[in-house]
Amino acid sequence: MSGCVCVVCGKPATLPRSAGVCAHCDDPFAVLEVLFDLGRVRKSMTRSALAARPPNHWRYAELLPLDPDERAFAWPVGWTPVLDAPRLADWTGVGRLRLKDDGRNPTGSFKDRASSVGVARAMQLGDARIACASTGNAASSCAGFAAMAGIGATIFVPQRAPKPKIAQLLIFGADVRRVRGSYAQAYDLCSRSCDEHDWHNRNCAINPYLVEGKKTCGLEIAEQCATALPDWVVVSVGDGCTIAGVAKGLMEMHELGFIERVPRVLGVQAMGVDPIAIAFETGQLPANRTAATMADSIDVPVPRNWHKALQRVRACDGAFVRVDDEAIAQAMRATGARAGVFAEPAAAAAVAGVKQAVAQGILDPKADVLAVITGNGLKDVDSAIAVAGEPNEVEP
Ligand SMILES: *Cc1c(COP(=O)(O)O)cnc(C)c1O
Repeated sequence: MSGCVCVVCGKPATLPRSAGVCAHCDDPFAVLEVLFDLGRVRKSMTRSALAARPPNHWRYAELLPLDPDERAFAWPVGWTPVLDAPRLADWTGVGRLRLKDDGRNPTGSFKDRASSVGVARAMQLGDARIACASTGNAASSCAGFAAMAGIGATIFVPQRAPKPKIAQLLIFGADVRRVRGSYAQAYDLCSRSCDEHDWHNRNCAINPYLVEGKKTCGLEIAEQCATALPDWVVVSVGDGCTIAGVAKGLMEMHELGFIERVPRVLGVQAMGVDPIAIAFETGQLPANRTAATMADSIDVPVPRNWHKALQRVRACDGAFVRVDDEAIAQAMRATGARAGVFAEPAAAAAVAGVKQAVAQGILDPKADVLAVITGNGLKDVDSAIAVAGEPNEVEP
């Protein structure tokens, strides 16, 4: 790491221990971005060096905010498969569609990329407890890695977090606090508790190191698709950390010479819970809205990382679309039946977004597209059953 800057004013900041925002801006969303000395990275992270490294996201050690750590680096995170899905391409109306199935991470979601880095940092700093607030996946992921590392986890979840995600937390032995309120309220309580008790704060938006973990998805796409780079990479968007991370990874691989161009990035938000899409169009975050979506993982009315998300999407000439719950339900069924991938609602939203972007003329019918499946369908069984219906009962 060569330093860190504020995403709003651009002034250098000192690298925080875990979470931190800019000391100069009075914008609560003035989050920090970690910088790397890519000149130095280029010397050791060569194509041939990478070829000899293990198939997990620790292969990008030079681009992670960690000291190499043998214990953490044995956790099997990332390097999830990229699957060609021709029948789903037909359904969405694009020329080629690949799915990167991040539901196959150890705790079943993309969040493992960030949590593994957060917990490894907590371990290296000697912190005894890590905390986070989450709509579900970041929570279960944080608890899972804390269990692997042998440190404590205190997790704040909103009232409506799906039961399977809560079950995962409890099985991983976390101290779970279900907050009688919204995600925003769970988030505030977590931040205050971290300050008061000196816990390691895993909240992705204001812990700049976590986005560096999310970045590894972009690094992997660049390596896995180097010979046939997609035109577009599609990601669903809640807080905005995932899309910012994926885009950062693609851009760093471009700067390092691994890929010749940066794919454009398409962000998908839920209809009515679309503050980042609105900010993309107007430059301003809208006032609090009250809509909700079945896709709990992207049900984020106050996104903490909107500056980073917008900067990255603009830098790669990307776009945003919105999809409603009916479109998400159709995409869950199509992704399962036409590609054999069981996606939770927020993950299927990316596939629904591909179809929507074709309808709006953003994607060309010949476009070569990669959609990131950010979470496994077993994460939210109730939604899956609501969408797919009941089985036929027959006599034995
Ligand atoms: C967290 C999450 C997202 C969105 O990531 P943000 O960083 O909040 O934008 C998308 N899909 C799933 C399954 C998630 O858990």
